[in-house]
Amino acid sequence: MDVPHSQVFFPSSFPELFSAWARFPGAVPFSGGTSLLGSSGSSALPMLPKNILSLDRIEDLKRITRTERYLEIGAMVNLNEIISLGKIIPGALSKTLKGIAGPQVRNLATIGGNICGVGKNGGGSDAAAPMTALDARYELRTLAQSRWISALRFSAFDASALAPQEILTRIRIPLEHWNYTVCRKFHSGDLGGGTGGVMVFIAKTEKNLLTDIRVVFAGACLLRDKNSEAFLEGRKLPLDRKDAVHYRELWENYLSGMAKPEPFLKAKLVNSIESCVLGLAD
Ligand SMILES: Cc1cc2nc3c(=O)[nH]c(=O)nc-3n(C[C@H](O)[C@H](O)[C@H](O)COP(=O)(O)OP(=O)(O)OC[C@H]3O[C@@H](n4cnc5c(N)ncnc54)[C@H](O)[C@@H]3O)c2cc1C
Repeated sequence: MDVPHSQVFFPSSFPELFSAWARFPGAVPFSGGTSLLGSSGSSALPMLPKNILSLDRIEDLKRITRTERYLEIGAMVNLNEIISLGKIIPGALSKTLKGIAGPQVRNLATIGGNICGVGKNGGGSDAAAPMTALDARYELRTLAQSRWISALRFSAFDASALAPQEILTRIRIPLEHWNYTVCRKFHSGDLGGGTGGVMVFIAKTEKNLLTDIRVVFAGACLLRDKNSEAFLEGRKLPLDRKDAVHYRELWENYLSGMAKPEPFLKAKLVNSIESCVLGLAD
């Protein structure tokens, strides 16, 4: 029997979704569509994938739940809904999400689409920075199984991040108190057209001790240097300036071994990290 060439499916459950996907293996998940519609290049009409699996009617993907230790957000929750949760969500996440596009796009754009999508300029997953810094975990699901993966191990740039016919279903974010949060966005326009990104710097203090520090960059790659974090953890506050400067050097060394981001952005990133860490020094 002949089948129509272009179709949009609106499954309302996971079995329906995976059954449509099995029949049309080349079909593409569609959440808010802001990335998919925006990837049409210069053509007047967006070039959408031939077969689309809209995730809009799967209620399980729209849930937000909270326990004492975690916040769980369904992949289909839009960015403005997350921002409107207010103080429940860690500052690093709300600040980053507020920096994505404008309010209209944020009403459509979903957190799942942000994490799984890669923009046409090679960037476009800003939420990966706070998610990685906060040690979030992602639930991925196929017809046969579901699995959890840390945000650090999941990279939308890696074609194998999602297995064939696998979707991101929810995100689990530990709820911890971070005393110091800085988010910095590097716009591609300020970089002579290069791919921009987001840096998140968070630190936790107890009395006069720095108990935890995490710095993550998400842009054309996802970077977190656990070695430099270990160097500062447990140090007294305010930090000795020499330690702060050494921290900058550790990041410089770490970045020198990385192919991305491009050198100009690497230099901007190191300067930002230095100014953040000096904020903890005397
Ligand atoms: C004007 C404008 C400005 C933007 N600015 C920014 C910005 O500053 N920072 C930024 O990070 N992004 C930006 N974007 C890119 C994009 O809008 C966001 O990344 C958005 O969050 C994508 O979400 P979506 O729901 O629209 O994804 P969609 O476009 O629906 O999907 C994006 C990709 O992810 C896949 N996908 C979607 N959901 C899932 C899922 N649950 N499981 C598996 N795969 C899935 C889709 O198949 C597709 O490949 C911008 C876009 C526009 C149009």
